[in-house]
Formats: sequence, C-alpha cells, structure tokens
Amino acid sequence: VKLRCPICGREYDRPVQRCECNEPVEFELLNGEPYIGKTIWERFYDFWPVEPALELSLGEGDTPLIKSKLGEELGVRLYLKNETVNPTWSFKDRGTFLAMSYALKAGYKTVGTVSTGNMAASVSAYASRFGLNAKILVSESASNEKLKAVSVYGADVIRVKGDYGRLYFESLKLGESLGIYFMNSDNPFRVEGYKGIAFEIAEEVTPDYVLIPTSSGGLFRGVAKGFIELKESGLIEELPTLVAVQAEGCSPICRAFKEGKEKIERFERPKTIAKAIANPYPPSGNAVLKLLREFGWLCVAVSDDKIREAQRKLAGEGLFVQPASATGIAALRKLVEKGRIEEGAKVVSILTGSGLRTLSQAKGGTIRECPLESLENCLR
Ligand SMILES: *Cc1c(COP(=O)(O)O)cnc(C)c1O
Ligand SMILES: [Zn+2]
Repeated sequence: VKLRCPICGREYDRPVQRCECNEPVEFELLNGEPYIGKTIWERFYDFWPVEPALELSLGEGDTPLIKSKLGEELGVRLYLKNETVNPTWSFKDRGTFLAMSYALKAGYKTVGTVSTGNMAASVSAYASRFGLNAKILVSESASNEKLKAVSVYGADVIRVKGDYGRLYFESLKLGESLGIYFMNSDNPFRVEGYKGIAFEIAEEVTPDYVLIPTSSGGLFRGVAKGFIELKESGLIEELPTLVAVQAEGCSPICRAFKEGKEKIERFERPKTIAKAIANPYPPSGNAVLKLLREFGWLCVAVSDDKIREAQRKLAGEGLFVQPASATGIAALRKLVEKGRIEEGAKVVSILTGSGLRTLSQAKGGTIRECPLESLENCLR
C-alpha cells in the first residue's frame, strides 16, 4: 500500500504522517470484498492497510444503528449511529485500535498522542491493552478531573506549557527521532479505522445524508473514504451527501467553505460548549475542504443554544451524548428548516461520544424529595 497526499498528490512508500507540503497523507483507495465474519475487522478484512491485532481488540466498533423518533417531527427517516458504546465511550477507539495494531507490528515500545479528551483516554486504554507505554501530551489548561480518566490506565500524562497548536507537529517530529509512534487526530491508520463507521452504516441502510461532527477532520475523512471505497468496490451505487458539522464558535472549515477559500485559516478566540470539536486550526481542514468541494457536500455550523437543545432531545430518547455529539441533530434541524434536506430523506447522525465525559456541562432534570411515610402519595 501507498500513502498519498490528498492535496498535492505526492506519494510515499514510507509510513510518513504528513506530506512535505505539510498536509496529511492517506492510504491509497483499497478495493475489497467483504467476508462473512464476526467483527467489522473480519467482515471488511481487505479494506484495512494493516492486519488488525484481533486478539487485542476491546470490542470497538459494531455499534448499534438506532431508528430515531426525532426524525418524525422533522419529516425525515433518522438513524443514530451510537458510537458512545465503544470501549472508552467514543469512536476514537476504532482508529486507536488500528493505529496501535500498526505500532505493535512495527516494533514500537512507546506510543503517544496530543489530546485532552476522548483520544487521550482511548490511546491510554489501548496502550495498556497492547502492552505499550503511552506518552499523552495535554495542554496547560486541561482540568485535573478530565486527566484522571486518562491517567487511570497508567499512561505518562505530560502537561505541556506553550502553544498547543504547535504541539501536534512537534510531537510528530520528536516522535520520529525518539522512536515514539504518535497517533494524533488524523493519523493515517486512525482515519482508516473510522471507515468502519461507513461500512457498518451501509450494511444496514442506504443513507441520503450522513451528519458528521468535525474538528481535526480525521473522522470526516475516514467516513468519506469508507463510502468512496464501497462505491469503488461496487458494493454501493451512490455516495450519500456528507455533512461536516461544526460549532459556530469554532468553525474554521465551514467559514473557509462559505468564503470559497482553498485553505482554512486559524479561527481566533474559539468559544463553544462543544469542546471535543473545537480545534481552531484543524490539521485535516484543507483535506476536508477539498472533499466538500469535489463531491458537492455540505458544511453546517450550529450555535451552542441549538447544541444544548439537541442534547436534551437525544436524552429524551434515552441517549446521553456530549455536546459535540449532539451537533449533528442541531444541523439536521437547520437543514430541514432551510429546505436543504427533502422530506422522507434517509439521514444518519453519528453520535460520536458519551455525555459522561462532560458531566459537569450536563443539565439534569428535577429531583423530588419524599418521606417514606408519604411514598404512596408521591407515587400517585
Ligand atoms: C474527536 C471527536 C470529534 C471530531 O473528530 P475529528 O476527527 O477530530 O474531526 C467529534 N466528536 C467527539 C466526541 C470527538 O471525541
Ligand atoms: Zn502534499
């Protein structure tokens, strides 16, 4: 397999992570046949660029696709891809597992990542599972509370003072000289792992639209590549319309898309409750922009108020997600109201991560007090 830059087209046969032009690289399209097998890794065996270490899987992927009642009031057929049930409660586990499979095979003893949230926890957990050391680089402002859920797995958590944006590139550079395999947000193996979301969706429905919360762009690129490979392999006839969803308070990709720019620009002073999608200078931003243009796809930014409302609606259906993961539903409402999604369309929204990660942001319902003696009255 070969790695290729989606922006300038340079090709590499070494496992580089970024192109010389500073953009991300990705594996060439893989063309395969699905097998009958138990897990997503086995059923789509031909579609992974590295042998998945099946015996070390924690059961990531193969998540439920749930028919949602929220579609009825919007006049669409809505399905929710519930990624909150992954081993560390977000879709990151799919990418971490595949990148970790590569790191183990390539002989690395230590892996790393740059993150404060879901990816940090995911890499820590899988490093333990794979018997590798983990270096987790986090920003100065990361809260102790959040970091507990990372260090619990035994990782070496390092708070780095300085420009958090530069940390992504510095880590890749130092990783190369020190022999640490950094699997950051849009690492090529990570992106491959995310293809499984598209494969599983296509096994169950043929969606017209897929809503994808987007930060670094790794998830978006993975889901897009998954659908494209299914089409190249003749397994689906048409690509769905993919929708990159961002928070209004940090929407560098949607802004560049709207303004017709070819490159994203840093989003100054990002501010949103959707912390998991608040990368102000996404490393795969230009690559996402190119996909949006090439396929006529959409980018939608939603406000914090609409995100909160969508989070409550999902909880009302029994699904507790973090704010970033509710953005898809907020975007769906916006698109339906604008008439951009037609009545009866089949729509999938990816619920990327669990609300338990952001408990302090959650607004609970009411709780009543009741003396045991009056329990009968209270229950009436
Ligand atoms: C990482 C993450 C995203 C965005 O994924 P990117 O690959 O960075 O675009 C969305 N939602 C949640 C909950 C995440 O953890
Ligand atoms: Zn390039």
